[in-house]
Amino acid sequence: MLKLSTTIWEPIPRDEIPGLYAEKLRIFRPFAVIVMALAALLGIGLWGWDFAVDPLGAPNTLPYRLAEIPALGLFPLYLYFNLWPRFRTFAFVLSMTVSQALMFPIFELLQDGPLIGSGAFLFWYIFVPLAGVGLTLKDCLYAMLGLSVAPLLWDALGLLAHFQTDVFILYMWPAGFVVSAVLVANNHFMLQMIRSQKLLSLAKEEAEHMARTDVMTGMNNRRAFLELGGAAFQNAKRYGHPLSVVLLDLDHFKRINDTHGHAAGDAVIVMTAELINLCVRESDITGRFGGEEFVLLLSETDLTHAVEMAERMRATVSATLLDEKTGFTASFGVVQLSAGCDNLETLVAQADQALYEAKEGGRNRVVANTSLH
Ligand code: GH3
Ligand code: MG
Ligand code: MG
Repeated sequence: MLKLSTTIWEPIPRDEIPGLYAEKLRIFRPFAVIVMALAALLGIGLWGWDFAVDPLGAPNTLPYRLAEIPALGLFPLYLYFNLWPRFRTFAFVLSMTVSQALMFPIFELLQDGPLIGSGAFLFWYIFVPLAGVGLTLKDCLYAMLGLSVAPLLWDALGLLAHFQTDVFILYMWPAGFVVSAVLVANNHFMLQMIRSQKLLSLAKEEAEHMARTDVMTGMNNRRAFLELGGAAFQNAKRYGHPLSVVLLDLDHFKRINDTHGHAAGDAVIVMTAELINLCVRESDITGRFGGEEFVLLLSETDLTHAVEMAERMRATVSATLLDEKTGFTASFGVVQLSAGCDNLETLVAQADQALYEAKEGGRNRVVANTSLH
């Protein structure tokens, strides 16, 4: 049985994580794609900011602002089409660090740019959690790490003239740390929510399955048989295809229970179910109809073939032993769908008449209901 009560703090079993991430991506991919596409367009909007800050320098920054469009915009495309998912962390880190790197020439080209523009780096710490709703924690944390150390690297390579490493570290790293902590917590809660949803729907499926299944034999129960069989019945009726029902009842079952005990009786029921499963085709619908009574709905099968099949099953059942000394038998009632029969219950009742005759006739036999033809 599934354990349903999960708390939000509970650790998530490791082997479930890949499946939960796949589900997370499935749910949030559209959101992540849209916000990242908007982020790419932000580059153009921020050129307005450049213009406000320094109208003379702004024309020079335009190429860099435009370059932000592919730098930020290719990633949502990549995510939308789910291309090379193995490289997603790399693609995300690349998109983040390249688009961040484009900021430096922009600042250099503007009057007082390095001073007033550095707050814009915070945007990149916002992009990560926004895209991150659909991504993995690893994707996000590597991106955060990339954004936090890449500027130091460009500086060390001598690419940044006015970069103040200590200011960057003082201002950006605490923010990066806070965002990363939020990412860790948020990711956990999201996975946990997806997981509890999944557990709920699994439990629902299981409950539905249980309501349709006979626990002892794993067969359809009466309700499920009538439901599944009802559809097959209507189909056969509509297209005039042959359809037969075989009803099987174990003989003197009370005696088996009385002589060998209830557990032995149960074992006989399970064995009978297994024998039935071995005899039927994929397209046949079977069920445990009552205590020691089973039913088979044979599609595309006329009376002659249904009787043949019942006879094979009768022989198999009577040749089967519970233990060295104890055998058991079953009686069979067989009927074919005829013009006057309007529903599956009636067809089964007609098979039951034949079964009654089989019992009356001495049991361990197959009787066909021919009164209808
Ligand atoms: P007949 O040949 O006329 O069918 O005789 P019978 O004894 O098989 O028929 P009857 O309907 O009188 O008895 C059926 C018995 O099946 C009674 C009931 O206790 C037993 N039974 C029903 N369900 C189960 C079950 O799940 N396990 C066991 N062990 N016995 C069951
Ligand atoms: Mg019986
Ligand atoms: Mg019975």
